Amino acid sequence: MRKNKAPVYRPGFRGRLSARQRDEICMGAILTQNTNWGNVERSLVELHRAGLWDWAAIAATPARKLERWIRSSGYFRQKAKKLKIFARYALGRSPARWFSRADLLALWGIGPETADSMLLYAGAKNAFVIDAYTLRIGKRLGWFNHQSYEGAQKFLTSYLPGSTRLYAEFHAVIVELAKRHCRVKPSCPGCPLLELCPHGQKILS
Ligand code: SF4
Repeated sequence: MRKNKAPVYRPGFRGRLSARQRDEICMGAILTQNTNWGNVERSLVELHRAGLWDWAAIAATPARKLERWIRSSGYFRQKAKKLKIFARYALGRSPARWFSRADLLALWGIGPETADSMLLYAGAKNAFVIDAYTLRIGKRLGWFNHQSYEGAQKFLTSYLPGSTRLYAEFHAVIVELAKRHCRVKPSCPGCPLLELCPHGQKILS
């Protein structure tokens, strides 16, 4: 992995994942809790440099040492503990066995967003990821007023065909929209959804 290279959005990317890529996605899903991806990427680079690139190495490394490499992601004590719990869980299980939502949610530190990110992007399962961006954009577009994870997920999946590829693409597009236009303070001119968005139209009227 090259340092300081921002993740690139590749529409329709369907590459086959190696076991190592799946592990990286799961590590990233834990590390990205409450922080941005740039900070996570710095931690992944540090883990890589330290040779902590598989669950066996993570499980065998004392938490105090692990914390040093993931400092950039914030909440590093909690996240080191979460990585170690996940490592112990994943070790000895095939991905087919550990990509179970109920199992993931039973682990300390794994909530619905983290579990669904792992299931969708690493496990290629039909799990629609809801994040703060989805809630913000959905509310502004008038898709839903409620802010609960399950409510938003139920709403969106009731309109979309169950497709791993579509769910992954949809979430990626939401993230891009939130970064380019629908920020906390939205930049509505030029937003591709302006015609459909009561919030944006109100701002620009
Ligand atoms: S028009 Fe404005 S508020 Fe609506 S989705 Fe676009 S950026 Fe967000």
